[in-house]
Amino acid sequence: MRKYVIMGVQGSGKGTQSTMLCADLDLVHISVGDLFRWHVQSHTKLGAQVRRAMKAGELVSDDLVESVVRGRLDQHDWNFGFVIDGFPRNGRQAEFFMESYDIDGVIHLELPDDEVRRRVLSRRLCPGCGMDYNLIADRPEVEGRCDICGTELITREDDTPEALAARLHDYYEKTRPVLELFRRKEVVHDIDATAASDQVQAGIRETLGLPAYRPKG
Ligand code: AMP
Repeated sequence: MRKYVIMGVQGSGKGTQSTMLCADLDLVHISVGDLFRWHVQSHTKLGAQVRRAMKAGELVSDDLVESVVRGRLDQHDWNFGFVIDGFPRNGRQAEFFMESYDIDGVIHLELPDDEVRRRVLSRRLCPGCGMDYNLIADRPEVEGRCDICGTELITREDDTPEALAARLHDYYEKTRPVLELFRRKEVVHDIDATAASDQVQAGIRETLGLPAYRPKG
């Protein structure tokens, strides 16, 4: 059983790296942002509660976050372990998490702010299957369409310069201290996230002592 937390500023590739890490190791990728986006798109009651905060790039309340995380982990579909992404984002969430779960490692993706802006503002998302694209480094084959399911790509509502500024501010003020908390209690693996995604993945696996990446299929 392997339980990892992946941390890093917006656009550092947490989603991509988590997907690659989970693919052949049978780990479950738990992205708290994806869970919330699903609720917003599905027009659930929770979606209505979190939509405004998400659109503005603000953090959702800890109570809602904890209930979503607990509900997801209580499904116990992670026999081989999980990679949790986008959580914990502040001290209270970290305490809640560490009280309930042992963590085998924290992966910290490092990316300078100018690269964050460049990446985030060129990011596109498939609302059909959740695949991430980037108009600089990872363009879809047909402009504006998902390579996997053909759905029209969208820009995330919070990938605007204003919302990004709010998210970066929260990251440095609230999430960075969580990393320091983890450094005192858990093993934190610092990874340079400026490289191409397969190189970043290779670095993660090497530091965690995991087998090399072998995509399924
Ligand atoms: P992400 O996809 O991780 O960038 O998350 C998108 C948005 O979901 C964030 O800007 C927050 O509004 C909300 N969110 C995701 N995870 C958390 C969390 N752990 N705590 C509070 N809000 C969160």
